[in-house]
Amino acid sequence: MHKLPALTAFLLTMAAPLWAADPASAPGTPPDAPNPFSAPSALPYALPPFDTIKDADFAPAFEAGMAEQRAQVDSIARSPQPASFENTLVALERSGRMLDRVSKVFFNLNASNTDPEIQKIQTLMAPRLAAHQDEIWLNPDLFARIEAVFQRRGDLALDPESAQLLQRYHLTFVRAGARLAEPEKTRLRQLNQRIAELATRFEQNARKASNDGGVVVDDKAALDGLSAEQIGAAEQAASARGLEGKWLIALENTTIQPVLEQLKSRALRERIYRASIARADGGPTDNTPAIAELVKLRADRARLLGYRNHAAYALEDEGAATTEAVNKMLAALAKAAVGQARGEAAELQATIDAQARATGAPTFKLQPWDWAYYAQITRKARFEFDEADVKPYFEMDRVLHDGVFFAAHELYGLTLKERADLPRYHPDVRIFEVFDADGTPLALLLADLYARESKKGGAWMDVFVDQSRLQDSKPVVIINLNVPKPSEGLPALLTFDETTTLFHEFGHALHGMLSSVTYPSLAGTNTPPDFVEYPSQFNEMWAREPIVLAHFARHYQTGQPLPRALMDRVLAAQKFGQGYATTEYLAAAVLDQSWHQIGPDQAPPAPKVMAFEKAALQRAQIDLPMVPPRYHSPYFMHIFNGGYDAGYYAYTWSEVLARDTEQWFHQHGGLNRANGDFYRAKILSRGRTEEPEPLFEKFYGQPPQIGPLLEHRGLVAPGKSG
Ligand SMILES: [Zn+2]
Repeated sequence: MHKLPALTAFLLTMAAPLWAADPASAPGTPPDAPNPFSAPSALPYALPPFDTIKDADFAPAFEAGMAEQRAQVDSIARSPQPASFENTLVALERSGRMLDRVSKVFFNLNASNTDPEIQKIQTLMAPRLAAHQDEIWLNPDLFARIEAVFQRRGDLALDPESAQLLQRYHLTFVRAGARLAEPEKTRLRQLNQRIAELATRFEQNARKASNDGGVVVDDKAALDGLSAEQIGAAEQAASARGLEGKWLIALENTTIQPVLEQLKSRALRERIYRASIARADGGPTDNTPAIAELVKLRADRARLLGYRNHAAYALEDEGAATTEAVNKMLAALAKAAVGQARGEAAELQATIDAQARATGAPTFKLQPWDWAYYAQITRKARFEFDEADVKPYFEMDRVLHDGVFFAAHELYGLTLKERADLPRYHPDVRIFEVFDADGTPLALLLADLYARESKKGGAWMDVFVDQSRLQDSKPVVIINLNVPKPSEGLPALLTFDETTTLFHEFGHALHGMLSSVTYPSLAGTNTPPDFVEYPSQFNEMWAREPIVLAHFARHYQTGQPLPRALMDRVLAAQKFGQGYATTEYLAAAVLDQSWHQIGPDQAPPAPKVMAFEKAALQRAQIDLPMVPPRYHSPYFMHIFNGGYDAGYYAYTWSEVLARDTEQWFHQHGGLNRANGDFYRAKILSRGRTEEPEPLFEKFYGQPPQIGPLLEHRGLVAPGKSG
């Protein structure tokens, strides 16, 4: 679990039921104000017309989109007809289509290809959108109609998906405060707007701190250990900032930076580590004031809505359901992981000592900035391979076609054809049309795989168009990675981790593309965080499945297959270091729960934010000085503006389901259409038309088991878990 790719910040996830609409019932914008979002896109699959969209279009489109939806909602709420499923729920589901169009493009571009203008609009719009959302959720006439339909649900003979839609709307309105009295609603609106402002500020600070925090190196010798290509990229990055003749090591999202694994200079490793953990903690991008206020306001809001704390509120709508269940799982895993990490630390210290003896240099105590470097050396000695030996076998385009797409063909009968004729927002974006086994056009897939400065870090999937029979729409989805762009003429070679990430994001994409539902708000990946990472983590299994590997892992120059013995060592090495990887992840998950399981009076003031963090890790007995949390609070984007607040544990919860499913496939004959079609029918096509727990059990035949996950991570001996 080296990567925990974030599904993109779904600012609007909660609002998804409300952002999809019928243009026929819309008042529309005047014809003299042409805006690319005014009408549905005429491109295939309603792909956004990227070639005509300008930054200046967003603000007016947001305004017009909100106005359109306000008018639609108003006419639903004031309808003289008695409330019915059709004239209330289906009408809501159809409302706000223009807002949906502009929001999806805007938030995708803000993540993948942002600029100062877009960020300015984001700052301006985040509180406005929160207010707009509240206006709908807190509309008493509207809620009265939903409540009336809900109370009669037993007599309506609704099909199961429609019954689920009614249930979801009702619960969403109640959770959003629809039952509060008017003064409390006013307070709630203020809280939501302030929270949206703070979350935006947090994100912008964190992003700027990462960009500004890059480490400038004056002496090329200090870069010993990096490849010529990486050194070239660092030189270019420096020169792009006017630092000719120097090198710039850019920072990625996580605490531990990937280059720490390679750099021989201990002093430079320490500098990079310290730059990483210092991000947004003090200085001009200080995020501690935003955190202090954000966690207090979230706690205030939870109390106002009748919950003990924000986590209790957030978890009510998840598969895991309670803070107790989450704490219990985190504690159970922490015990196994911390023990394993201590053992790994001792092994790395032994490597350091042995090296010192061999060279006659003084030994030293392992520090956090040393871990990745000595883990790499130890791994290499134990498993006898180097990342550089393996990368030539993972050429990105071949991984994509002969690995990712191949597995989808074998499992689900899909074929993908590249389309060069459609507009894109950046020349590096590739577009594929996806066809079902019988040739039926199914979806569009955008793949934006290279890193650039205008893109946020990490990897994620998002949606431009939701699948829906109600709207007769087919899905348009995107996967984003941050693979360093190779120099002109050279192929992009992936690490095995990046290869796995590509399979992961494509797993999300399948969840979106194979969706087969009526209502857009229940489509595809519109599922709770602790379920949404399940199909993606499951799809990772094909990256290491021998039959798939043999198909895509070929040397980019010689065409020779990856030698079996080398691959076996790569796979065995995957279990090495799981103590560290699990501990750094759990530490972050513990921080998330700690920030969100407090009452309003327990929120610390800004200067005490880091002390709060330290105390939380100590309490959970996961405060290993050598194993810092995967994210420290000031740059922990997932939980302060990423939709994973009180939900970061979700990756592990989902992974339990994923590894159970992997075991199921192995028990049923692995990669074939029968298994794939069964999984597609039971899980991938279903979106949230049923709640996660029953959905999973209908596929798996029993409740989830933690054993396969522990075994996969090498945290217990096979056969010892239940
Ligand atoms: Zn994911």
